Amino acid sequence: MKNALSVDVEEWFCGHILQVGLEGKGWEAQELRALKNTRKLLRILERHKTKATFFVLGWLVERVREIITEIEQAGHEIGIHGYAHVSITEMSSREFEADLVKALNVTRQVVRGKIYGFRAPHFTITKKTLWALDILAKHGLRYDSSVFPLSFHPDYGISDCELSIHQITPQMIEVPLSVVDFLGKRFPCAGGGYFRFYPYGMTKLFLTRCRREGRPIVFYLHPWELDPDQPRLNLPFYNRIRHYYNLDKIEYRLNRLLEDFSFTTIREVIGL
Ligand SMILES: [Zn+2]
Repeated sequence: MKNALSVDVEEWFCGHILQVGLEGKGWEAQELRALKNTRKLLRILERHKTKATFFVLGWLVERVREIITEIEQAGHEIGIHGYAHVSITEMSSREFEADLVKALNVTRQVVRGKIYGFRAPHFTITKKTLWALDILAKHGLRYDSSVFPLSFHPDYGISDCELSIHQITPQMIEVPLSVVDFLGKRFPCAGGGYFRFYPYGMTKLFLTRCRREGRPIVFYLHPWELDPDQPRLNLPFYNRIRHYYNLDKIEYRLNRLLEDFSFTTIREVIGL
């Protein structure tokens, strides 16, 4: 049973909690660092002979086309992360479809392989946005990997979603992010902020438990998490901690993770 490694490829300033810190300057005025950080990640994956799925933001593809070429040439899978990084919960179905089509158009101009997968910005496939799955299928996508099967987060989560990979609609496979059931509660253990906050031993314990329960790990990270030197935005205290905590430990932890577990693309895990 193989595990799935996924990367949400976006810039260091794309998260919704960071927009207030840009102080009205906008994305165009910011330094682009994602290519350099993605190259660093590609080198780490190469060292561990590991393949991954990269969900790339359309806005970034438009500006740094070689990011797709380099990921693809290294043998990884390319997926879609929307165009403008807007939560689906903030969009009408018409706005979501327009954003998706824009992302698919810019990406399909560069990518050589077929695109199968989608990851929603901020994991915002929730009970309120399940309509988006039919739009993904209409545009040729085969799987979604956006559902966090938990209930405590203010932005995302479906509390009673199945923990395993499953058919969520007749046309779409869902690849939920890993959580473990522990003492009757669901704990996320799939990467991102959770990987930065938990000591590595705790992540390893939770991930081992996922596998014991017969589920492949579905893990995620971002290229900016390997960039401890990124500019710091002026954010409210809580969000500053949430976003920048332990950035200097991620490269070391990722190397340990890749030694302890073996990962591949989502496409290979679900057999597409
Ligand atoms: Zn994202």
